[in-house]
Amino acid sequence: MTSHRNEQTRADGLRALLKEHFGYDEFRPQQERVIANALAGRHSLVIMPTGGGKSLCYQLPALALDGLTLVVSPLIALMKDQVDGLRANGVPAACVHSGLPPAEQSEARSGALSGRLKLLYAAPERVNAPDFLQFLGRLRLGLIAIDEAHCISEWGHDFRPDYRKLAGLRSRFPDVPVMALTATAAERAREDIVRQLRLDGCERFVSSFDRPNLTYSVKSKSRAWEDLLEALDARKGESAIVYCFSRRETEELAERLTRSGHRALAYHAGLDAEARRTAQERFIDGEVPIATATIAFGMGIDKPDVRLVVHDTLPKSIEGYYQETGRAGRDGQPSDCVLFFSEGDSRKHLYFIRRIEDEDARGAAERQLREMADYARLRSCRRKRLLAYFGEAMEGAACGRCDVCLTERHATDITVVAQKMLSAAIRTGEQYGVAYLSNVLLGGADKRIRERGHDQLSVYGIVGDYDRRGLRAVAGEMESSGLLERGEYAEIKATLAGREWLRERRSLIAHAPARAFAPMRTGRSRGGGAQAAPDRDDDALYESLCALQRRVADEMGVSTFTMFTNTTLRKMAMAKPRSEAEMLRVSGVGPAKFAQYGHAFLQTIREHAERRESSAPTGLSGAPESECDEALFASLRALRRRLADEEGVPAFVVFNDATLRGLAARKPATPDAMLRVSGVGPVKLARYADPFLQAVAAHQARAAPSPSP
Ligand code: ADP
Ligand code: ZN
Repeated sequence: MTSHRNEQTRADGLRALLKEHFGYDEFRPQQERVIANALAGRHSLVIMPTGGGKSLCYQLPALALDGLTLVVSPLIALMKDQVDGLRANGVPAACVHSGLPPAEQSEARSGALSGRLKLLYAAPERVNAPDFLQFLGRLRLGLIAIDEAHCISEWGHDFRPDYRKLAGLRSRFPDVPVMALTATAAERAREDIVRQLRLDGCERFVSSFDRPNLTYSVKSKSRAWEDLLEALDARKGESAIVYCFSRRETEELAERLTRSGHRALAYHAGLDAEARRTAQERFIDGEVPIATATIAFGMGIDKPDVRLVVHDTLPKSIEGYYQETGRAGRDGQPSDCVLFFSEGDSRKHLYFIRRIEDEDARGAAERQLREMADYARLRSCRRKRLLAYFGEAMEGAACGRCDVCLTERHATDITVVAQKMLSAAIRTGEQYGVAYLSNVLLGGADKRIRERGHDQLSVYGIVGDYDRRGLRAVAGEMESSGLLERGEYAEIKATLAGREWLRERRSLIAHAPARAFAPMRTGRSRGGGAQAAPDRDDDALYESLCALQRRVADEMGVSTFTMFTNTTLRKMAMAKPRSEAEMLRVSGVGPAKFAQYGHAFLQTIREHAERRESSAPTGLSGAPESECDEALFASLRALRRRLADEEGVPAFVVFNDATLRGLAARKPATPDAMLRVSGVGPVKLARYADPFLQAVAAHQARAAPSPSP
């Protein structure tokens, strides 16, 4: 009883720190348990996908612990951004690296010695230096966090010898708990981390790597430019990253895109620090939506609304690929990942790999490249392969959301219905349009049909599995296949090719959105033809069900893949069962699973339906983003830019996009209301309440007097 209460008190305390210093109201799956483990003084290995929220796992305990938290991080830019972000939230943090002026170095050191600092960031080279180790010996260390821990392993995709030497840090401070974090989950790399850091018996926290809102596809590089333009047009004005092979290619592509009317900038390690920083900021602010980049771009980028990640060249490993695609859709909204593949690119990489002298490293690189190329050539579900790579089993054969799954579903045999359509056209004398022919095929009770005697034809009422919409799509497909053509009054005529096709009983396969051709499940449809087209609504519900599943899994301490598969959740979102009996009819839901968590899912489906029924007709998806006032968002973004410039920090240190969107949706009028927006804590409130509340008020005043037409 008491221990339960203690736990509750501690959980409340952590939550208070979360709001106070980060502005968030809830922990993400796993975060809370990782933090508790660190506070209990135990080692942990934390495996979370990119964007999963790893940094909070050590930043929050740092606040609750007495001693200093040392964070080992591989990149100066990454450290700087984190320190800026922490300071903006009132957390005393600093970093030491070679680029820092001596005065700041010694200030950081004295801050650490005096116990004022909570977090100290350093690169591994620094940490391994004898004088620094000695300095650390004079401090009271509460926790050692090793970020991007896969760098320790040759089996990871980013091996760094200096990470390997961190074993020395361990033997020097054997009693300080260690938290190793990585998004790289190749099993061998994981074991390597545990072995090299001697974290035997550490607690392992493995989050699901599934990113259900991301769609993966691979296209032939031969049409890369056309397909790239198409993908960008589909996401016009939204943020996209295009990863290129070389610095030169990033620049050429950015130029070419600009010439074709897109706003794009190039980013690579060859630019000087200032140019890199401005490029990054213009991208983060959404001023320039497209970044063409080498892989150096995006590490530590906190931009939640990247809608498209393109790989113009084959990545060197699946780990790297997954991290880069992981930068898409951090806000959970549907986003696309497109890879352009050619065997030539694969050979180009191999050429460089063959020159690696170290035999082990060369072997590892070759294997990783082979795995990547195999993935690109895959003819089965890509998500399944990616998850399998990270040691995660996906139930069922297909995710339904990668190009392979989608294409399979899109290839529909429409031979029979197409034959019926063409015969109907011929038998009625090739003088009627699709609507009339559909009516005949569906056995409609149209007066004209009876007057003309078309109800006596053998084709009358022979279609039972398509509705009007479906039949229109079938006619469209036949037209584009050259089997029929439309006359002056849109009447349908068989072409020569069409007659031949009919005579020879050849087949017709449609390659188009599956729903258009999906035969209906039950009975015949007489007119109306309003087959529900619930795509966006289903998507929104599907996302909620996924989120629920993650929450439940986390509470029960199990992995989501022991629960429902993505395919089952998709089916659930489509069927929207309202009762136990209906739920059990969804394939993939058995009585055992229903008994364990069925009710929670029913509840979510019910709430979704209620929200939908009560929402205004304009509400497209019910997602909170749809309520974001875009005009206000734009002006808040401009305000953020100004404030960030004044303070000399990256824009996201002020507030990230998700928080700005929250502000633009809730339009707070008072500091209290502003504090309730996720991402706003008391420190930022004190600093930024005035300008942001003023901006909101000004926007409201502008919007109020003139009701829009
Ligand atoms: P990772 O290092 O795992 O790639 P980050 O630590 O950069 O991920 O976190 C990704 C984003 O998620 C950041 O914008 C971070 O502020 C946000 N985030 C982390 N934890 C939470 C939380 N509990 N609630 C809301 N947002 C969070
Ligand atoms: Zn798939």
